[in-house]
Amino acid sequence: MIGQLLARQIQRYASSSSSRRITARLQEQRYVEVTRPDGQQHKYPSIWLRDNCQCSECFHAATRARKSHWERGPLHVRAERVRFDEKRQQLIVNWEDAHNSSYDLDWLQQRDFSVEARQRYLNEVYKPPAQLWGKSQFGDVTHHFEYHDVLKQDAVLLDWLQALAVQGFALLHGAPHDEQVVRHLAERIGYIKRTTYGDVFDVKSKPNAGNYAYLMTPLPLHTDMPYYEYKAGINILHTLAQSESPGGANLMTDGFYVANTMRRDYPDYYELLRSVPVNWFDIGHDGDAGKPFHSLWRAPVISLDADGQFARINQNTTKRDSRFTVPLEQALAWYEAYDKFLQVAQAEAVEFKTRPGDVFVFNNLRMLHGRTAYEDSPQNKRHLVGAYVDWDIIYSKLRTLKFPDAKD
Ligand SMILES: [Zn+2]
Repeated sequence: MIGQLLARQIQRYASSSSSRRITARLQEQRYVEVTRPDGQQHKYPSIWLRDNCQCSECFHAATRARKSHWERGPLHVRAERVRFDEKRQQLIVNWEDAHNSSYDLDWLQQRDFSVEARQRYLNEVYKPPAQLWGKSQFGDVTHHFEYHDVLKQDAVLLDWLQALAVQGFALLHGAPHDEQVVRHLAERIGYIKRTTYGDVFDVKSKPNAGNYAYLMTPLPLHTDMPYYEYKAGINILHTLAQSESPGGANLMTDGFYVANTMRRDYPDYYELLRSVPVNWFDIGHDGDAGKPFHSLWRAPVISLDADGQFARINQNTTKRDSRFTVPLEQALAWYEAYDKFLQVAQAEAVEFKTRPGDVFVFNNLRMLHGRTAYEDSPQNKRHLVGAYVDWDIIYSKLRTLKFPDAKD
């Protein structure tokens, strides 16, 4: 896609520059301005140009790496002269220390500092923007895929990962009765994130359950592992056997939609949910090896990223520590906000019941999920198998699928 965009841009340039020229000029020594024949301007900080000089002395092309020359830094080296070379379609900068740099026009274009160009890069390459959805939109945002297509076709794999990134979940159908299905899917993306529950784990009712999820009781809306700093990115849940009792249905709410509703309708509550740190914890024994663990992570219910976007929802009533290490008044106010958050989440929850062969996959940083109560019988025991994969791995896979020719 980058390649296509680029080709279009270059074409546009080639056709327009035949009649009029591209010019470059220095602005107050701080910026370099490149003006296209149609009058559109692109402005780059001089220091950024020097920092990103592409010559072999400054840049190691084979590893796409800036050579570490900051110590003799570009900060105070001034650009003396700039010009645009029409023939080579390059910006040429002569620096006062006698160093010379040249930059391809298309390389500069891809690094345009305008608001639109930056947003386009963030949306197309960094992360696709999330489509927030409420209960009434569930039908429209549900994407279905065939398990075997995801395993065999890159185009389907891309669509599946894109749905996970944008809508936050997807449903796969037609998986075989095989406990390795979740592993095959995780390895199709990259690799499994191992946790204290193992790499592939069973979700079924167990005698003497060490985790609330292993009971037949209703499982209230939650995210998995809020007590990890590096919380698992997606949850892959394969239904091997479903309960024939009326229960055992999945519950799900878009946590980012709930956060957005809080921000819009209850700004004071939102501020508390975004800022008050909650202690999330888990104490127990590792399923296989029986090793003890004591997990603890302090984070607000709504976490934002560096761009101010929703990054992570933390909510798990069963894993919220009774130690609430905030001032008294803050604890008091927080409960009001939390109560409203759960009320909105519950009101927006959708309910559906997977069948054997279905694989329900969702963004664990975003979706609240749960389950209605069910009853096993000797002939019918509900059995799900799960595995986790991290978003670093998923986004990386998504980019390699979208931009197989990306070089820098
Ligand atoms: Zn250089």
